[in-house]
Amino acid sequence: MRLGYSQAIITPLLTRPVYLAGFGNNRLATAIHDDLFVRSLSLDSGDVPVVLCALDLIGLFRRDVQEVIRLVQHRAPAAAVVIASTHTHHGPDTLGFWGPDSKTSGVDAAYMADLKTTITETILSSLSALQPVAFKTTSVPVLGLVKNARDPEIVDNELTLAQFLDDTQAPLMTLLNFACHPEVLWEHNPTITSDYVGYLRTEVENQTGAPGIFFSGALGGMMTPDVKDHSFAEAEFIGRKLAQEGLKALAAVRSEREAKVSRQTREIQAKLTNMLYKIAFQRKLLPDVRVNGRVTTEVSLIKIGGLWIATVPGELLPKLGLALKAQLRDAGAQVAGVIGLANDELGYILPVEDFRFPLTPFKPGKHYEETNSIGKDITPQVMDGLRSLLHQTGA
Ligand SMILES: [Zn+2]
Repeated sequence: MRLGYSQAIITPLLTRPVYLAGFGNNRLATAIHDDLFVRSLSLDSGDVPVVLCALDLIGLFRRDVQEVIRLVQHRAPAAAVVIASTHTHHGPDTLGFWGPDSKTSGVDAAYMADLKTTITETILSSLSALQPVAFKTTSVPVLGLVKNARDPEIVDNELTLAQFLDDTQAPLMTLLNFACHPEVLWEHNPTITSDYVGYLRTEVENQTGAPGIFFSGALGGMMTPDVKDHSFAEAEFIGRKLAQEGLKALAAVRSEREAKVSRQTREIQAKLTNMLYKIAFQRKLLPDVRVNGRVTTEVSLIKIGGLWIATVPGELLPKLGLALKAQLRDAGAQVAGVIGLANDELGYILPVEDFRFPLTPFKPGKHYEETNSIGKDITPQVMDGLRSLLHQTGA
């Protein structure tokens, strides 16, 4: 297996208004606490190169992702690309929900254009820097950092890891995957930050001398940091603890030389039933991408040796994330992961049996997640799509 890596800064300039995404409207950024990154990891075992690209952003719609993938494939036609957002709640609005008021998008078109160029260049540069690597993978439960604010009894504490090493066994890259909203700093923080994810990567880099790349897992409804003060100290504690526990677990695992990399993908269509999205389309906050009332999106299955990762186009609830990882293991995965907000962000993906759209959606109470979901039809589409990929690969 060969690996290439590249990263770039995507922090917006504050010379124009930057509306912070997540929480409510009109949260203007006043300062930059730490830089936001695009990080791109390319893997190749002789067939199709697979690119895993992580953005410190709230999310990107499929339309924008596809524009980037088209630009990448112009120069690297074979590349299979997954672009996923960490879902930080302290970066620019890249979706449109969080502008100055509920009728005005917070997306800055000039920023989006620059962003797409930077992502494309970063992916291409990771594809052009491939070198042979050994590989190891494991997972470890990390307790006490995350809680489920919707269903407290359902928590996924598993940190999934992969590490890529040179022929002296020195790490070249560490991949981490965990299910927790990057929102330690909460709604009153006016500064741009990658939240606990930045501290996690810094700790990985300090300990291994090589970059870390982080992907958010099934962080939906509502996997959130278990903190009191919403401080940078707490974000640092969570990030460093995850990195330390993860690196300790990796140190106990032997590396393998020959690992195969592949990605299978499936397009799915889901009915959009949430009236709040329909209002947002009318207000032109978001592009209306419906065809016959349905939205087209995708799921995929990535295999890196014994590590199998399902990618989903939004924020899967942990009950579904746990079920998915169990299915991956039953089908033959040694270690399982889920990458959320991958190549799309269609909001929460809830278990159908728990889905109740509130009668008063602006005061949703216990059913907030339903108001940030395109509807309950997405769930069987995602789960069945992934199941068919698992069977298709003969696993
Ligand atoms: Zn969310």
